[in-house]
Amino acid sequence: MSGLMSGKRGLVMGVANDHSIAWGIAKTLAKHGAELAFTYQGEAFGRRTKPLAESVGSNILLSCDVEDEASVDAVFNSLRSEWGSIDFLVHAIAFSDKSELRGKYADTTRENFSRTMLISCFSFTEIAKRAAALMPNGGSMITLTYGGSTKVMPNYNVMGVAKAALESSVRYLAVDYGERNIRINALSAGPVRTLAGSGVSDARLMFSYQKRNAPLHRTVTLDEIGGSGLYLLSDLSGGVTGEVHFVDSGYNIMSMPRLDELKV
Ligand code: NAD
Repeated sequence: MSGLMSGKRGLVMGVANDHSIAWGIAKTLAKHGAELAFTYQGEAFGRRTKPLAESVGSNILLSCDVEDEASVDAVFNSLRSEWGSIDFLVHAIAFSDKSELRGKYADTTRENFSRTMLISCFSFTEIAKRAAALMPNGGSMITLTYGGSTKVMPNYNVMGVAKAALESSVRYLAVDYGERNIRINALSAGPVRTLAGSGVSDARLMFSYQKRNAPLHRTVTLDEIGGSGLYLLSDLSGGVTGEVHFVDSGYNIMSMPRLDELKV
């Protein structure tokens, strides 16, 4: 253990199970000395998250559905009374109706567009405000995004639009909280087999395509995403804010498939 996060406390939102990206980040932070609190959405996920939280020595596990503002407030009221202040926040929350993560973006409905934007984008702005209020000595926050924000990925559709807005929020929030020494960044992860990831149609195909065409010839592991999360949440990245940091085996730099793939 490096102790990079020793003496730091923070909230991790978005663990559904041990395949969740939030869990990969949480494990790494705990390994480096961080003290963690977790939220879960609904009792079924709560039952899965409890043993995970306990395994990293956390006894703060709070219910939170970001569609319910009162439940968001309750989380931060509990943290204020338990800890008084926090040093970091991990936001790894997204949702869109599966039926619209296929086919054409043009067919997105008004209802699902609004719901996707609220859960996957606005929740970060809302949560960041409450987290910042608990960071009197500065801090660091990250959210999770995907390359479908700036380039079209088949089937990603409205989630790509929400991620574009989320990445823009990161830049605005970085300015709003910068004078309080609170840093705001996004991790843009390559595809990972998770519950949310499998909601996108043809997820397996996209997974193997990116694996074959990324410069590193593979996808990324939860531990690697955890390492990038550790960097952005620790003092190692003290001068970094408003960034979208890719952890995708380099896939984002490619403008066309690898030549060896095309020749097959
Ligand atoms: P996951 O299913 O493990 O996590 C998604 C989380 O969002 C779950 O814990 C779920 O409970 C939570 N959530 C959804 N709606 C919510 C609500 N109304 N209130 C509170 N929580 C809610 O999947 P994941 O892939 O680990 O997703 C985490 C983040 O990473 C998401 O923002 C996702 O878009 C992003 N991401 C995923 C991939 C991938 O390939 N899996 C790649 C890049 C970015």
